[in-house]
Amino acid sequence: MTYKFENLPQLVDNRRTIPKDGNYSKRTRSITTRVWHHSLTKKTLGGSDAASFAKYHISLGWPSIGYHIIIEPKNIVNTPKGKRARIVYANDISLRTYHVGNSNQFALGMCVAGDYRYDDLDDATKATIDELQEALVSDGIGKEDKSHNEMAGYSWKSCCVFNYKEAFKFLDAKKPSVVPGTYKIQEGDTFWGIANNDEGITVNDLITSNPNVNPAKLQIGQVINLGKAKNAYTPKPATPKKPQSTYKYPLPAGVWRHYKKGGKSGSFNEVEQIQRALNAIYFKCGKVDGWYGDLLEDAVRRFQLIYMPYEVDGVYGPNTKKKLQAVLKSKGY
Ligand SMILES: [Zn+2]
Repeated sequence: MTYKFENLPQLVDNRRTIPKDGNYSKRTRSITTRVWHHSLTKKTLGGSDAASFAKYHISLGWPSIGYHIIIEPKNIVNTPKGKRARIVYANDISLRTYHVGNSNQFALGMCVAGDYRYDDLDDATKATIDELQEALVSDGIGKEDKSHNEMAGYSWKSCCVFNYKEAFKFLDAKKPSVVPGTYKIQEGDTFWGIANNDEGITVNDLITSNPNVNPAKLQIGQVINLGKAKNAYTPKPATPKKPQSTYKYPLPAGVWRHYKKGGKSGSFNEVEQIQRALNAIYFKCGKVDGWYGDLLEDAVRRFQLIYMPYEVDGVYGPNTKKKLQAVLKSKGY
């Protein structure tokens, strides 16, 4: 039989093609809990998808990806009902995969790709979460929803952070709400509470568009600008970064890779900079000679494996540069 969730138009069944290095065993108990995770990788990142998570989990010694179902916000699918984030069905729900330790036996693992300490849930992703959860409920798969940190032993974990219960009501709640131009302060109101996240009005917007209001001393009955406040606040541009030449280990811009694998050959000052920087933080890459050869590629890989495990390719690019800069800084350079 096929379940209703398997027929969602934004779902792809990759149970056979997802990278594997072994097999999970079958559950011996039925699913009681649908557990929601986020991947802790920014949703737009190259490696923020099911296949990359699978490779990472295999590198941890697991048989394959730890989740059953993965939602990929960076892969948008057009469905008859509108734009939706893609769903990858990666492990059969009958398998006891690894995602919540002692609870794996009876838990279904669902991961929404993204780092929701920083990312926002977009509408296409909320709609997918809503439809998936509704389908699972009607399929009778599990009796309750929980976030990872609501599972026994995991209260310390920042997962999944996003308000998954809110997302379940997304499609019902999508009637446009009308924000009045002004608002009369009621007892207990704060700018924080009034800032309407669905409409994107922030506390800073409220402060900016109400210059004569002291946010610490709101008065009952006081009238503030609300609807007009949206986007009133423009964040200051970040202070300009120091020029690379002022660093002990300046780093080059651009993309640099193994000279035989599409990189340039010859001795380059830029490559020397990468070599010096990696040697300085003990990702040894041999002699500083300006050649992007095997030793340097290997050092870049080792660095990425530790600091950016979803983007391990041995190629130096903007993300590696950013991370390398941060690590150098943390070491006092
Ligand atoms: Zn988790």
